[in-house]
Amino acid sequence: MTQQVHHLIGGEYVAGQGSSVITVTNPANNGPIAQLNCATEAEINQAVAAAKAAQQQWKEVAVSERARVMLRYQHLLKEHHNELATILAKETGKTFEDAKGDVWRGIEVVEQAANIASMMMGETVENVARGIDTYSYIQPLGVCVGITPFNFPAMIPLWMFPMAIACGNGFVLKPSEQDPMTPMRLAELFEEAGAPKGLLNVVHGTKDAVDQLLTHSDIKAISFVGSVPVGQYIYKTGTDNMKRVQAFAGAKNHMVIMPDADKQTVINQLVGASVGAAGQRCMAISVAVFVGNTKEWIPEVAQAIAEVRPGLWDDPDAGYGPLINPAAKARVLELIESGKAEGANCLVDGSDFTVPGFEEGNWVGPTVFSGVTPEMRIYKEEIFGPVLSCTEVETLADAIALVNANPFGNGTSIFTNSGAAARKYQHEIEVGQVGINIPIPVPLPFFSFTGWKNSFYGDLHAYGKQAVRFYTETKTVTARWPESGIVEGQNLTIALK
Ligand code: NAD
Repeated sequence: MTQQVHHLIGGEYVAGQGSSVITVTNPANNGPIAQLNCATEAEINQAVAAAKAAQQQWKEVAVSERARVMLRYQHLLKEHHNELATILAKETGKTFEDAKGDVWRGIEVVEQAANIASMMMGETVENVARGIDTYSYIQPLGVCVGITPFNFPAMIPLWMFPMAIACGNGFVLKPSEQDPMTPMRLAELFEEAGAPKGLLNVVHGTKDAVDQLLTHSDIKAISFVGSVPVGQYIYKTGTDNMKRVQAFAGAKNHMVIMPDADKQTVINQLVGASVGAAGQRCMAISVAVFVGNTKEWIPEVAQAIAEVRPGLWDDPDAGYGPLINPAAKARVLELIESGKAEGANCLVDGSDFTVPGFEEGNWVGPTVFSGVTPEMRIYKEEIFGPVLSCTEVETLADAIALVNANPFGNGTSIFTNSGAAARKYQHEIEVGQVGINIPIPVPLPFFSFTGWKNSFYGDLHAYGKQAVRFYTETKTVTARWPESGIVEGQNLTIALK
């Protein structure tokens, strides 16, 4: 019998009454590993009501006690690191080491959430007028929602609910229906860490569940991570319903390779950044831009990538695992065919790759194209597979123009030994996260995750100080305490006197 994934509503784990059933599958062979019943309208209402009731108590809990829950949670996550990574690897197909990295990048955010008191400090100015002081507090919003994608089932939920809850909010998480068991285990451990029942709720489902949350009158803020069309829909619908929304979406990330870069460093870094995690990372490098004579390095890059061997999650020699589902595989294969048809050179073709004994799985071998131009679909569309497109330009200025013309702006990197080239690139590039001799520049949680353009819809980004601003309101108090207890005279103007 396959495992039943429960909802967490008001501190209770329930299978739910929903008649729409989703099977969670093992991407290595598409066999069933669990199933879930999509939450009903009533169950979602119960989850929101539970979060609202718990938040009324939680917002009065001392900030240092809220931080202590995060400290205990961080400790528990570390204790359960291998267990979480195993659950995660089994339902996503990621290699065990990569799954551990997914959990670890989430633990780092919990560490930051444990530092909440200093991030929630307001501002003060004494004597804004004679005897009058102004000071501000940061207060929680109420109930916030997280809608998360399949590709980081630990890290991305952990970008959201620890920061929101540390700020004093209640939370409803709607994780990806494709890998819901990791977020459920995260939620169980959160309660074990001492979080009050009902503060964090997890409901499973798809569009119907999301639509209900987007329009629910008790929801104040929506955090979303996923694809561009869904991100645009969520941003528009959420803001139309007067919610605060941050929506992180798709990407097309370029690595610019300068002639003065170290060739072996470039090759080593590009291999993992392009096909690692089967290319299913929003910060994966999907385009390598070879400047000047570095185009001569392309065959060696292709050779190094060709040597990466996909495999099962517990195979220590596997470079990466299968794609998440058959539709994702079919889409990647179709894009590879389009690349060939549109005239790119397919130097390494992973279309026919499989793992013996797991032929039913969603495998795609490493794939490298050269001669890719901006008109081709493999350049324009997010592939989200282990496919690297190599393109050639003459100068750094040409590379900057190419990257800036791309509608996405999540991440980019430049490999160079020239400070002047690096400075020019970081200054002129219209992308929100820049790596200099670092291929995947995901900021640590004392900064924020700052994608731009079609990779992000909203104002305030994930984790760090921006998350605190996103999950809170500022209240500004202007106060006068005259020693006599009396304020003399009338003031018919707007000026403070
Ligand atoms: P997705 O958009 O299909 O799903 C994301 C979430 O939205 C899931 O919880 C899903 O159930 C829900 N959803 C799906 N269709 C919906 C609809 N029509 N209406 C309402 N909700 C809907 O994304 P995915 O395939 O799970 O994740 C991969 C995508 O996420 C890629 O495009 C990737 O670039 C992006 N991503 C972006 C970032 C970032 O920080 N920018 C990080 C990780 C992933």
